[in-house]
Amino acid sequence: MSQLPSLPFSRIFLLALSLSLAACAEYPPAGDSVATDSASQSAAPVSPPLAQVPARPEQPALSFAEWREQFRQEALAQGITAQTFERAFAGITPDPAVLRADGSQPEFTRPVWEYRASATSASRVRNGQASMAAQQASLAAIEQRYGVEPAYLVAVWGMESSYGQFMGEQSVIRSLATLAYAGRRQQFAHTQLLAALAILQQGDIDPAHMRGSWAGAMGQTQFIPTTFDSHAVDFDGDGRRDIWNSAPDALASSAHYLLASGWQSGQPWGFEVRLKKGFDYALADQDLRRTVGEWQALGVLAGPPADSLQDANAALILPAGHRGPAFLVLDNFRAILKYNNSTAYALAVGLLGDRLQGKSGVIAAWPVDLQPLSRSQRIDLQLALGEQGFNPGPADGIIGANTRKAVRAYQQSQGWPADGYPTLELLQQLQQ
Ligand code: CA
Repeated sequence: MSQLPSLPFSRIFLLALSLSLAACAEYPPAGDSVATDSASQSAAPVSPPLAQVPARPEQPALSFAEWREQFRQEALAQGITAQTFERAFAGITPDPAVLRADGSQPEFTRPVWEYRASATSASRVRNGQASMAAQQASLAAIEQRYGVEPAYLVAVWGMESSYGQFMGEQSVIRSLATLAYAGRRQQFAHTQLLAALAILQQGDIDPAHMRGSWAGAMGQTQFIPTTFDSHAVDFDGDGRRDIWNSAPDALASSAHYLLASGWQSGQPWGFEVRLKKGFDYALADQDLRRTVGEWQALGVLAGPPADSLQDANAALILPAGHRGPAFLVLDNFRAILKYNNSTAYALAVGLLGDRLQGKSGVIAAWPVDLQPLSRSQRIDLQLALGEQGFNPGPADGIIGANTRKAVRAYQQSQGWPADGYPTLELLQQLQQ
């Protein structure tokens, strides 16, 4: 991680979590370390499914100069002026650090409870409350327009850029040009690079100040260029959509994106629940939605938050398996997942937002003795599940929906709680 000192917290974590991809906003891990998400993309979404991503960059067929000329012709054909292009590409060479980051496949991952603990640390809560106070007037106006409650909007801001402090220092054009030339997702980077040039041409920012993460996530919102194009707004009225230097623009842009992703004003993201003894853990799946009332009838003990939400759709999640806390998560959780498709991320945003409002944290204990499987262990798990006919999908080290399903089926075959959460114990049992 030393080569990426300025990545914001969420990115650093996702890098650590990342299963086959060094992650960032647009290339988040396919699932949290701990077995959660299905193939994920997002935050400023729209990247190719991970399954389609080649394991290694191929050797570029063209020199960078040849590629640049070819790309220039295409950009000009799409309405980018020669002047915009030349200004953007002045002195641009491929960045080896970007390629290294793009190619990294971290072996070890961090457990969800450690991620949650740092996401809601005392300093993060304190800084968030100070940021809320400082932006109070803008946040109120933004809530009026987009319906996103200040605490949760500020929580996203905190996760994306530590409340605007860390946005990434890399040239977005250089990073994306590198990835479009020789990265693992060239078509994706190519599209983003064209969108970045269009942003420069519109005059929202100049090339020298268009900074972001190594993967092109930009500014305080960590939007990729296409998401900027579709959702960034000029909220402070200076005529530019400046998610780098204007907190009101950044916050309003995130709120606009959350609203477009299905944010329900006035609804919680979710809340912690308890499960009756004998509860069928196989029901805990992010894709299985029922109304809160139906969950209660099935044995979910939800407490007062559920009373006014009987008809709201919710999924039950067990981010650390059946031994850890359980949550019912509603539409706003899904909206946060559109921002960054990681259960650990969305949970951290929700819990940080709760803390910013002075609400208490998670009550149930986390199973801190369980270590997340390493990448090679996850591959071993998939191989073993495959050999025994449980169809976990390709052995790519990514715990997606298929692998979780296979884990559940194996757990059921053993008479174990079918929470779909792979542990070392389960791997060892499989390998016997
Ligand atoms: Ca502005």
